[in-house]
Amino acid sequence: MCGIFGIYGHKDAASLTYLGLYALQHRGEESVGIVSYDKKRVKQHQSMGLVNDAFDEKTLKSLKGSTALGHVRYSTTGSSTAKNIQPFLVKHKKGHIAIAHNGNITNAADICQEMEDAGSIFQTTMDSEIIVHLLAKLRYKDYKESLVDALSQLQGAFSVVMMLNGALIGARDSFGIRPLCLGKLDGAYVLASETCALDLIHAKYIRDIKPGEIVCIDKNGLKSIRLTNKTRSAHCIFEFIYFSRPDSDIYGENVYLTRKRLGAQLAKESPVKADIVMPIPDSGNYAALGFAEESGLPFEAGMIRNHYVGRTFIQPTQHIRDFRVRVKLNPIKNVLKGKRIVVVEDSIVRGTTSRSRVKTLREAGAKEIHMRVSCPPIISPCYYGIDFPTEKELIASKRTVRQIRDFVGLDSLKYISLDGMLESMLLPGDKFCTACFNRKYPTVLPKQFRKNILEGEK
Ligand code: SF4
Repeated sequence: MCGIFGIYGHKDAASLTYLGLYALQHRGEESVGIVSYDKKRVKQHQSMGLVNDAFDEKTLKSLKGSTALGHVRYSTTGSSTAKNIQPFLVKHKKGHIAIAHNGNITNAADICQEMEDAGSIFQTTMDSEIIVHLLAKLRYKDYKESLVDALSQLQGAFSVVMMLNGALIGARDSFGIRPLCLGKLDGAYVLASETCALDLIHAKYIRDIKPGEIVCIDKNGLKSIRLTNKTRSAHCIFEFIYFSRPDSDIYGENVYLTRKRLGAQLAKESPVKADIVMPIPDSGNYAALGFAEESGLPFEAGMIRNHYVGRTFIQPTQHIRDFRVRVKLNPIKNVLKGKRIVVVEDSIVRGTTSRSRVKTLREAGAKEIHMRVSCPPIISPCYYGIDFPTEKELIASKRTVRQIRDFVGLDSLKYISLDGMLESMLLPGDKFCTACFNRKYPTVLPKQFRKNILEGEK
């Protein structure tokens, strides 16, 4: 996952991009970068780590110009190293191209192989670099035609913000898998992964970029062009369950309210006799609130999160992950002692994190622990940019719910149903990707991925 942000036509472009990335920090904590353009020169600053640590006043002042784009990164393809920091910038004889990408291009390996055979040399191991190579080799007079040609060769998920010789471009794949929205501030156009970035800079939300749409913003204003007329929305439903910020609106729906509806649905489907409802903070908070409201059980914060530790899910290695689980959540013994508790969790991926949390709750004195999960069992990997492990490591791919209950150490375990999850959305269910729950991938996938899915179905 990654967060992307771009702005065209504002005197404080780099500072506003910095703030926008601050709002999107939850989408990636590994690295950050900003590129700006002042009609003469392109400037760039990038660093491993968090937005707060990467920039100071002097650096931001050096990023001159009224156009800027930025990126916070969590790697799903390409390693977590400095050379893979985005925006990826290339200067060539006709100008410059910079790109910030969220998603996963599933045919990247094939395109890359073809290009390398034809003499291209890649500088990074990121799939995003392919877009730059495709654009650089096209010879259309109008850059908009090059964009359509280059982007239509890609399969998989991409929401991108690009800078092409000063023009700002935003585009989404034809399924609209990852979010991207458009806003306006003091006459300047803004593009961002989530609306929380617009809110922070007081930009007005205009609309989402449509699936299969390219918006080109330059001195002539904004022009919308179609990448393809064949679109079928397959928005990632996991953005609601876990990834996006609760104060954002994604695909036209508010994330906080959606999480509450998921919790309420879970309470209707799987009620339980208990004393209190508690979330696994922070991502389980609002589903737990919805569960408590619907069931009439009191809501309690049974665990407190240490906010100085990053999100467990987006750490790149298992070694770091285990350490972070231990330091992140502390139970409140006086709340839990002798109680029958319902724990609302947003998802169970490997099961190991849930198991260590349940152990902590038992040690704190909980009498019964019933877990309710606000998404169905995750049985298949994501090929579109969310870092689920391989099928083998996903606990629900090979174990029944009862086996998972025993592995995690629970008195009872229930997941929301697929239908119940989809009914909790405002958009119709067929507008979402649900492939990690039912293996129905919306896009064509390369042979190797298809082989994995067939093996998983056996
Ligand atoms: Fe989202 Fe799951 Fe689809 Fe990946 S497979 S895009 S996580 S719904």
